[in-house]
Amino acid sequence: NPLPHVVILGAGYGGLVTAIRLQKMLNDQEADVTLVNKHDYHYLTAHLHKPAAGTDRDDNACISISELIDDAKVHFVKSTVLEIQPEQKKVVLEDRVLSYDYLVIGLGSEPETFGIPGVREYAFKIRSINSVRLIRTHIEYMFAKYKLEPHRTDYLTFVIGGSGLTGTEFVGELADRLPDLCKKYRVDSSLVNIYNVEMAPQALPMGLPSDLVDYGMDVLRRKGITYQLSTAIKECTPEGVVLGSGEFIKAATVIWTGGVRGNHLLEEAGFETVKGRVKVDEYLRDPRHPDVFIVGDCSMVQSPEGTPYPPSAQLAVRQGANVARNLAAILRNQPLKPFQFDYKGTVASLGKHEAVGVVNGKKVKGRVAAWIKRIIDARYLLIIGGVRLFLKKIT
Ligand code: FAD
Repeated sequence: NPLPHVVILGAGYGGLVTAIRLQKMLNDQEADVTLVNKHDYHYLTAHLHKPAAGTDRDDNACISISELIDDAKVHFVKSTVLEIQPEQKKVVLEDRVLSYDYLVIGLGSEPETFGIPGVREYAFKIRSINSVRLIRTHIEYMFAKYKLEPHRTDYLTFVIGGSGLTGTEFVGELADRLPDLCKKYRVDSSLVNIYNVEMAPQALPMGLPSDLVDYGMDVLRRKGITYQLSTAIKECTPEGVVLGSGEFIKAATVIWTGGVRGNHLLEEAGFETVKGRVKVDEYLRDPRHPDVFIVGDCSMVQSPEGTPYPPSAQLAVRQGANVARNLAAILRNQPLKPFQFDYKGTVASLGKHEAVGVVNGKKVKGRVAAWIKRIIDARYLLIIGGVRLFLKKIT
């Protein structure tokens, strides 16, 4: 009899942690486990703002999957998922079709553009190693172009749409990066403009206490960020953005961080979704398909207060651990354990040396918060790759 086949789609925070936990927990007579991912590396999505701005190398945000997965226990397939067929229990990849007994979907998110014209076509997005390489190269290219066409100050104008966690962390890094570029290209820094446009009346991640929001915005304003709050982007064109007020900001670089939705493949597969995300049951399964588990940004988990938890790496990691535990329980005919999330808080970096946030109910800011952020990041490396990976990435 063939062994039950567990297929995991996506090697992001949720999918990778599921695979790593399963490889530790299962013996080789219990199941065949296959992990599918578009690339042969895992990227740290929550670090992508740094290589995007050029303040860190992009290889610091990726880890080869072969370093993390034991191929004697988990079969890794580098391929792109094209279609999920939950009724047939099949997944169509670009080069083959896989059948499964249990499926874990961790395909991450896609930009939510709210139908704003031009955002899809003309704005950059921070979403993968390849997309952030393009942003970093483009930013530097704009400085090089400006030197040849010095009347084009729009080459030195950057508009970031959205001021949540991603937008805030990115503008912090960009503000750190631009002085180096000004020096390298001998550009007067007063000609550079960074606009952070936000529809809500305040910047920074939702839910931060207002004194911390003020602190974070002060830090970023001092670094040169111009906030346009309570302001919608009405249209994005190849030349810049049109704001709700009708004002046009001429900018050769527009980066959209205004929202995310779940991977489109779930909607296309017929799962019931809200913003592309599936409202999962207490075991993180699709309510209509108990053999399909959904983790990370593709899932929606209600908090005890009845509101969904915002998608985060922190949540995806915890979900991956719970799904692996429950898959092992199913294979061993043991009871399942409901998912419980002990939300630890959020820390947003404001560039290299400063951050702001709430951890375990305590407010943190400045250098201390930046250190806490580093500890959070290091903890994740320990979870996925142990001390060896930790030392390799930290040193
Ligand atoms: P991901 O980690 O995005 O992984 C999805 C995986 O699926 C990727 O490997 C991708 O290549 C693969 N994939 C996608 N489509 C296909 C396909 N068709 N076929 C095959 N493979 C595919 N969260 C925090 O908790 N704290 C933070 O400080 C934080 N900071 C952030 C900063 C930035 C700049 C960004 C962008 C996000 C940040 N987040 C943070 C959010 C966090 O990164 C996401 O919530 C998290 O990555 C979700 O994990 P996931 O497993 O769902 O998906």
